[in-house]
Amino acid sequence: MSDAEEARTVCPVCPRHCRLAEGETGFCRARKAEGGRVVCANYGRVTSIALDPIEKKPISFFKPGCNVLSIGSYGCNMRCPFCQNASISQRGGGEVSFQTATPAELADAALRLKKGQGNIGLAYTYNEPLVGWEFVRDCAREVRARGMENILVSNGCAEAGVVEEIAPLIDAANIDLKGPSREFYDWAGGDFSSVCSTIGILHSAGCHVEVTTLVVPGRNDSDADIDSIAAFIASVSPDIPLHVTRFFPRWRMADARPTPVSDVHRLVDVARRRLRNVLAGNC
Ligand code: SF4
Repeated sequence: MSDAEEARTVCPVCPRHCRLAEGETGFCRARKAEGGRVVCANYGRVTSIALDPIEKKPISFFKPGCNVLSIGSYGCNMRCPFCQNASISQRGGGEVSFQTATPAELADAALRLKKGQGNIGLAYTYNEPLVGWEFVRDCAREVRARGMENILVSNGCAEAGVVEEIAPLIDAANIDLKGPSREFYDWAGGDFSSVCSTIGILHSAGCHVEVTTLVVPGRNDSDADIDSIAAFIASVSPDIPLHVTRFFPRWRMADARPTPVSDVHRLVDVARRRLRNVLAGNC
């Protein structure tokens, strides 16, 4: 191994394990090698903030009717061609506008919205939160200290150690299970087994877990695809809700057709053979 190779630092956060030279930014655009460590470069950088109904996450069986103050930064460790949020998730710090906020400031903002606005806490969402998991952890501690709750919306593509560290702080999560196989995840630029592991870890930790599958025409829309996804979820628990949602043309699939509504309802029926709660989304 050359000296330059030896000087590289390996990021332990997700299965990509980027090997970064000092000052270099990782594949996710959210982490950077600095002082011999790979640090969270998007820490405290908020690109989006909104008070959303919890059903918009989507989470349907945890505190229904409540709102949650939802924050996002930038960056993602996947490259789904159908990304519905590419303007922040597929960009880095020099390419988006953001405001800075500390975990305590965001938790205080969440608390101010509790009375009158029905806010239950903070949701970490919009881009991929786990590439900046340290910020999620620090915000979640502040939120808990104020007696409120933490919601995670994630692609689940992270190493088990990261998920185990934040799981006790997360009250409810929606994890994308985007496809039924390693092959699908190779196409979407992610890691199938780590997503399955994340779902299991969060569920075992007592977190309320729901799962979303975006149905992309020609990619994961067969009965066998959805049956395989439902079978995995049922192996964790048949009580985990699954949201089968409709794709709209976006980013590198802007020329594709939206998922026919009839396909979504057919696939909901397929999943209901294994799971107790399956919902159609975006229809
Ligand atoms: S979190 Fe980012 S920097 Fe770390 S391995 Fe994954 S893509 Fe690379």
